[in-house]
Amino acid sequence: MDLGLRGKWALVCAASKGLGKGCAQALAGEGVNVVITARGDAALQATAAELRALAPAVQVVAVAGDITTPEGRTAALTACPQVDILVNNAGGPPPGDFRDWDREAWLKAVEANMLTPIELIRATVDGMAGRGYGRVVNITSSSVKAPIDFLGLSNGARSGLTGFVAGTARQARLAAHGVTINNILPGSFDTDRLRGGFASVAQKSGQALDAVMAARRKTVPAGRFGTPAEFGALCAYLCSLQAGYIVGQNLLIDGGAYPGTF
Ligand code: NAP
Repeated sequence: MDLGLRGKWALVCAASKGLGKGCAQALAGEGVNVVITARGDAALQATAAELRALAPAVQVVAVAGDITTPEGRTAALTACPQVDILVNNAGGPPPGDFRDWDREAWLKAVEANMLTPIELIRATVDGMAGRGYGRVVNITSSSVKAPIDFLGLSNGARSGLTGFVAGTARQARLAAHGVTINNILPGSFDTDRLRGGFASVAQKSGQALDAVMAARRKTVPAGRFGTPAEFGALCAYLCSLQAGYIVGQNLLIDGGAYPGTF
């Protein structure tokens, strides 16, 4: 299926690894020029080289910086000639117990996982509407739908973004002008972040890493973790011309882990 994206420009935040990288790969594979960001320059440059090899016809621009800071966002936006597609992503907040989180911890989580995507949406969607096409895909988490107790910072900050998107995506000055804003909610995906979490559980509990991973896999009806490529493919589809009628939705991609009917 031709997704109709050839020649468009995407800003894919936090994309040197994991789910963001999966999105950048899928979009570049569809002929989309990409600006990718991450804090660490070495992995970012390596990913940019991979993308250029994957899709020699597209332009790939790598911008090192922290997307949760005003400077990082300005650098990313400045590097993108025109943002047709915005993929919002950043590292997730740490796990823990809410009793241990002070105001600073909360502000950091809200800054990274709620206000940063909102700032980038604010900077881009009216331009998209003026051109009659735009896509915003926010990478959130299955924890928005099925909260995980030790991920309170994530549950809270991402739910704030989700509420904001629910209203904003439905504004006629966006939705009626070809702009869609949707959230993708990942379950367990095989990325550094997931493996890092398992490593810490293994260390604390004295279990072998393989045993911890196998136990988690058993909780997923699909019997495995998702891949960044599968995640990226969904993101690219949401950005397609064909997906223009999908507005303000929360799409869970979790191998069936969420046990509800809806
Ligand atoms: P990952 O494999 O650790 O990759 C994170 C990427 O984001 C890296 O490229 C990292 O590069 C970049 N990054 C992190 N913080 C950044 C910042 N402040 N500014 C710019 N770039 C930044 O993580 P992932 O698994 O893909 O997770 C992506 C998001 O999905 C996270 O918010 C995570 O909580 C959420 N999520 C993941 C899963 C899962 O199973 N993987 C499930 C639910 C939710 P640098 O470190 O060099 O900046």
